Amino acid sequence: MKLSNKVALVTGGLKGIGRATVMELATQGADIALNYRASEKNKVLAEELVKELKDLGRDVLCVEGDISHEEDVEKIFKSIKKYFGHLDILVNNAGLQQDASFIDMTLAQWQKVIDVNLTGQFLCSREAIREFLKRGMNDKSKALGKIINISSVHETIPWAGHANYASSKGALRMLMQTLAQEYGKQKIRVNNICPGAIQTPINKPAWDNKESLDALMTLIPYDRIGQPEDI
Ligand code: NAP
Repeated sequence: MKLSNKVALVTGGLKGIGRATVMELATQGADIALNYRASEKNKVLAEELVKELKDLGRDVLCVEGDISHEEDVEKIFKSIKKYFGHLDILVNNAGLQQDASFIDMTLAQWQKVIDVNLTGQFLCSREAIREFLKRGMNDKSKALGKIINISSVHETIPWAGHANYASSKGALRMLMQTLAQEYGKQKIRVNNICPGAIQTPINKPAWDNKESLDALMTLIPYDRIGQPEDI
């Protein structure tokens, strides 16, 4: 229960790595601000997850919104402030892929991935840091606040056929390092987690048939593909 009395916002928290992160934070005692994009399907998933979190004894606030839209992000942080009064941890998890060979990549595919995987992390980190600085230090933590970006091995390893994704994660690495340098002295911690292949909806075509999975396994130095709970 290392995170009792702390509030964590997880973006894209309904599926895959985001959901596993929500469950682990809650297991460690954190109350959860749960972000997801508005849709009927997501509403049903959110209801199920909220029930699981409440059964664990955690408080939870659903904050719908598209993290690549500035007005949605402002609304999300206002709701958190109003409901919980403070925020301690931001997990910038929401992300997507729109794959294409470079010469066939449309501007829309390029822009969408940069908007969600990079601009979304910028918008959420900016609001979080503003909130951490406004709140000031308390006796609950040695840090003023924590930001954890779910980046990727592709923040350093090039990825042919995924120029938009690799560029977004490479830039996220530099954003993390720059924010850590800019706000480290004020005790804000900023880190990236860089998973390899994890079995989630984002990369379904890479594991949902034997041929693709066999090809993927030649790149993984363990006997299995990673699971969201590993992260
Ligand atoms: P996932 O299951 O597809 O989860 C991504 C989540 O992000 C979904 O819940 C999605 O919601 C949400 N999302 C997408 N765009 C959003 C937006 N604009 N606003 C709010 N939420 C949005 O994939 P995942 O593998 O767990 O991915 C989570 C993070 O891990 C991503 O940043 C990804 O790049 C990173 N990662 C994954 C792997 C891997 O192998 N799986 C490896 C390295 C890094 P909807 O479903 O409603 O669109």
